[in-house]
Formats: sequence, structure tokens, C-alpha cells
Amino acid sequence: MMRAVVFEGPEVALDLRETSVPEAGPGQVRIRVLACGVCRTDLHILDGELSEPKLPLVLGHQIVGVVETVGDGVMDLAAGTRVGVPWLGWTCGSCRYCTSGRENLCPEARFTGYHLDGGFAELAVADARFCFPVPEDYPDDQAAPLLCAGLIGWRSLRMTEGAERLGLYGFGNAARIVAQVALAQGRRCFAFTRPGDEASQRAARELGCEWAGGSTEPPPQELDAAILFAAVGELVPLALRAVAPGGGVVCAEIHMSDIPSFPYELLWHERTIRSVANLTRQDGVEFLATAPMVGVRTDVTPFPLERVEEAIRHARSGAPRTAVLVMA
Ligand SMILES: [Zn+2]
Ligand SMILES: [Zn+2]
Repeated sequence: MMRAVVFEGPEVALDLRETSVPEAGPGQVRIRVLACGVCRTDLHILDGELSEPKLPLVLGHQIVGVVETVGDGVMDLAAGTRVGVPWLGWTCGSCRYCTSGRENLCPEARFTGYHLDGGFAELAVADARFCFPVPEDYPDDQAAPLLCAGLIGWRSLRMTEGAERLGLYGFGNAARIVAQVALAQGRRCFAFTRPGDEASQRAARELGCEWAGGSTEPPPQELDAAILFAAVGELVPLALRAVAPGGGVVCAEIHMSDIPSFPYELLWHERTIRSVANLTRQDGVEFLATAPMVGVRTDVTPFPLERVEEAIRHARSGAPRTAVLVMA
């Protein structure tokens, strides 16, 4: 048996219970989970904002663990390897998206901790093709946020192409990681927080952002692009107003409140709005190679599995450190 935190639906309290040990099927590995980060997406699932999860479900898609057993047909992962498991847990491999480098859009895609049991447990099973080697420099708990905040942040940053002046709306875990990478690439970062959140603004300046202010304030200069890491639709027209002609607003959240209507003038001059969905394995390979080179640091608060409710409250509070469940 193993211990797992089981979710049975938005109306039911999470339950830490003994469940049977999952077996690795063909192409899969069983992983002894060492750490698993709590992400805002987990909160959206808990709150029923992402519909139709597998039930009962083990949440968690920022898994760091060690391969324990290897299923039939797995050639390139051996027992004892430390791996990370991200949100993208399985794709069909044959649709027009999968065959054109856009597996993040596969209509059959299954996601870890949503359609597939995730890492709020002592053991997890994952498709070996969707496991990444974890950079050695990172302790287990500090590696966990790289797997979602880091990967989605990386993909969002890529969507801003060569933007020199980059606005980051919602200065949480993902924005902190993106800011470190963007600054290392020689870009200039401008951080937008909840109005009056001086602690986050100070943290942004300490990290190297050249300006930090409230999301309703105009930045001191026009931006070339902005990334929204907040689930607040009202920020979209505000960000559009802050970007220069030709600039783009990238929405990184999986769920967002409605975007209010706004004058066409804000979009005019070839400004764009786009969303970023999920990740590809290529994003994972690129980012996990980049993070240690840049020296990306993550700030985490560890919680043992039995304090999962507290970890979730921590994540809800918008605290700057990522809540990470640690199984040791
Ligand atoms: Zn996530
Ligand atoms: Zn596909």
C-alpha cells in the first residue's frame, strides 16, 4: 500500500489515505515521489473551474522522484534515475498537432494530476516518454517548481520573441523564474503586482526588474511585450494599453476570468493577444537545460504530505514561495 491524497470532487474534502500501489504498464515507469509542487492549476481543479477531471484523482503535476520500476518496452530510463514529471502526461503522437511540433495542442492529450494520477502521493506512474531528467544542481523540492511554473514560463517567454522591454503581470512563482531567464538574456523587466503589494514589488526590484508597480499603473516606458501570470481578465486591456505598437500580450494562465470589452484602438497597430497552452517536451528539454546555466533559483516552502491542506492554503494565499509537498 502507499499513502496518497485523493480528490473526489469540488464538494468533498481531500483525503489522505492508504491506496494500492500503482503498477507501471508497458511504456511506463513507477516513480517514488520525493517532492511535488502545488500549482494554481491544482486550485482550479479543486474548485471545479477545470471540469471533468478523472475521479477519484491524485492531484499534482510538478513531480520530482526516482524511478523505482520500469515497465515493458522502456529502453531509456533505468531504475534509480531522478526524473521530473510535468503537466503534459501523454499525447497521441499521430494527430496533426503531434506530428507538427505542437503536441501541447493534441486533442487527445492527457494531463498529469488531471486525467492521470499525479504526485500528491508516495508513488506515481508516468509515461516514460514524458519524464525529464532533473538538473543535478537542484534539491528535490527546489526542482519541483521548474516543472510547471518554469516550463509554462519558458514557453510564454518564447512567445514574446525578441521583446526587449518585458512586462510581467502577476509576480508569483512563474514570473520570478521568467524574470531571471529574461534578465540573463539581456532583456529589461517591468513587474506589475496587485496595487499596494509593496513586498512583491520590492522582491521584483531585488531580482533585477528595473521597475515594479501596481497593475493599474502605466510603466515608465512602453513595453514590447507583456506576459500575464494572473487569472484576471481585467488585466488584458491594461496590458494592451502598456505595450507599444506591434507588441504582444501573452496570457499564460489555464483559466482566466472574462476579459472585459475594450476599444479596438488598444489592439490597433498590430498589437496581439494570445494564450499559451500546456507545454511540449521540447520546451521541457530546452528549459531544464537553460535553468541551471542561468542559475535560476526557486523559492519553496516544503510541507509533509499530511499537511496538504496547509500547503493548499499557502498556495491560495499567493505567497511568493511555492508550496511543495515532500515525501521523505
Ligand atoms: Zn501547473
Ligand atoms: Zn496528438
